[in-house]
Amino acid sequence: MKNQSKNESLQHEVIIIGAGVSGIYQLYRLLDEGVNVTVLEAGGGPGGTWYWNRYPGARFDSESYSYGYSFSKELLDEWDWSEHFAGQPETLSYLEHVVKKFDLKKHMQFNCKVDSAHFDDESNSWKVNLNDGRVLTTRYLLTAIGMLSAPTMPIIDGVENFKGESFHTYNWPHDPVDLKGKRVGVLGTGATAVQIIAEIADKVDELTVFQRRPNWCAPLHNSKISDEDQAKIHASYDDIFARCKETPGGFIHGPDRRKFDEVSEEDRLAFWEELYSSPGFGVWIGNFRDVLVEKHANAAFTEFIADKIRSRVNDPVTAEKLIPKDHGFGTRRVPLETRYYEAYNRDNVHLIDLNDTPIERITPAGIKCSDKEYELDVIIYATGFDAITGAFDRIEFTGVGGQKLSDKWYEGPITYLGLQTAGFPNLITIAGPQGGSVSTNFPRGIEEAVDWATDLFRHLRSHGYTRVEPTQEAEEEWDAHVKKTYEYSLLTTTKSWFTGYNSNVENHDKLRYLIYNGGTPRYRQRLQQVVADDYQGFALR
Ligand code: NAP
Repeated sequence: MKNQSKNESLQHEVIIIGAGVSGIYQLYRLLDEGVNVTVLEAGGGPGGTWYWNRYPGARFDSESYSYGYSFSKELLDEWDWSEHFAGQPETLSYLEHVVKKFDLKKHMQFNCKVDSAHFDDESNSWKVNLNDGRVLTTRYLLTAIGMLSAPTMPIIDGVENFKGESFHTYNWPHDPVDLKGKRVGVLGTGATAVQIIAEIADKVDELTVFQRRPNWCAPLHNSKISDEDQAKIHASYDDIFARCKETPGGFIHGPDRRKFDEVSEEDRLAFWEELYSSPGFGVWIGNFRDVLVEKHANAAFTEFIADKIRSRVNDPVTAEKLIPKDHGFGTRRVPLETRYYEAYNRDNVHLIDLNDTPIERITPAGIKCSDKEYELDVIIYATGFDAITGAFDRIEFTGVGGQKLSDKWYEGPITYLGLQTAGFPNLITIAGPQGGSVSTNFPRGIEEAVDWATDLFRHLRSHGYTRVEPTQEAEEEWDAHVKKTYEYSLLTTTKSWFTGYNSNVENHDKLRYLIYNGGTPRYRQRLQQVVADDYQGFALR
């Protein structure tokens, strides 16, 4: 079905916002369908997350070969990952390679930020306003804007007064930053900070880490891919992707079928030692199937990990500060690390517990805590993101009757399947809130969402429809279902971006249901069922 677009009065049939992992693949699929499509990208090149996050130590914690696209055998055959968990430069090269190979760049507009988009109820189309003053029109608007693409700075007095260099990790400069001989402060101890701290500890003069809440971290165990392993990986891509399809998170790791209480203490410990010394997320999502559900099972594993931290950090006082006391293992995103805890054994690395000595303000010379001022040359803000909905809030989307999406989602997003929201026809939210991709090995989830959206376009075109939106009832039912998926886990026992919290964003101080936690197999089944039922829950006109 390769027919050209028939929307003569509109500039485009589809506009995709974002040239990251989702946008690249969605563009590829739509071009293949002969759709008149353009991609608008705020960055100076493709790559999304991997274009922006250039901070030292940035790398995958999904196995490289499970992260790449699966749609092209030729692409799989020709690309060799050099490490089991590739670093940011390699991942960016990979995405640039994909763009080049499929000749996608000419359909992408860079340095092109979308300020607002307004739905016109009469013509069933979107008007998209860009920061350069241009206005583009399109039948369908597709957001591929990422879930961790709206960085948040801490709300602390004086941030603008610091006289040294300072960066949010997401906006790390493209030119190398020389940290040698510098006094560096890192604010935050999430997955990003953990990578940076481990990477720069032995390269800077003094490293001071300002920690509000520690996280449960576990070893990544990265290594180079040998020629022998490379051959094995290439020969087993079908199995790798089949495996990712059957696990709840789209990773090669899936839960062990046994329950915690079914296994003797001796076997349990042996299993946990094996998990702790194996690469990747197995320690988190390959554990006994009730470790993230049953409190006593979680408490036992949490203690196991606490002992690991104690065994790796020489100073017992520092070790205790690095051990979370407010949440169990795996209830927040587990940062994977390479000698992170050992960094604190160095004389030049200092841990400041902000619970003991809170930050009062940023000064021209550094960071003033309640006890003293820390003089710094560089401050690194590893303070995270307005996750999942933040990128939507930063564009003014206006739907039917002038309703603003940011108003509709103020108390939390509500969607149908994470792919559309009522009152905003023809707006398709690939990898949007409450979708299946958000809690998965991202490319695995997005490939499914993109394939589904492409089938939807084909369906709309072949039936001559020009408008698609979910019904209110379908949306409410999905929202209730998403909320239910939170009941089966311990996620809600703590605050993190998984549960919609961010202390630096207004109104993000309560539980918001951003993620579908039902697992990819169930999500996939549901999408298939909706299609089989003639797009049940969608109003097509
Ligand atoms: P994050 O997990 O949200 O961590 C932000 C950190 O900043 C937290 O330690 C937070 O403390 C601290 N913070 C925020 N505001 C603060 C303030 N005003 N004062 C003091 N501390 C403050 O963000 P992230 O580390 O950037 O990671 C976000 C997500 O990105 C990860 O969960 C992961 O999904 C993804 N990521 C992936 C990779 C990878 O694939 N390898 C690498 C990095 C990140 P509290 O904990 O107390 O709030």
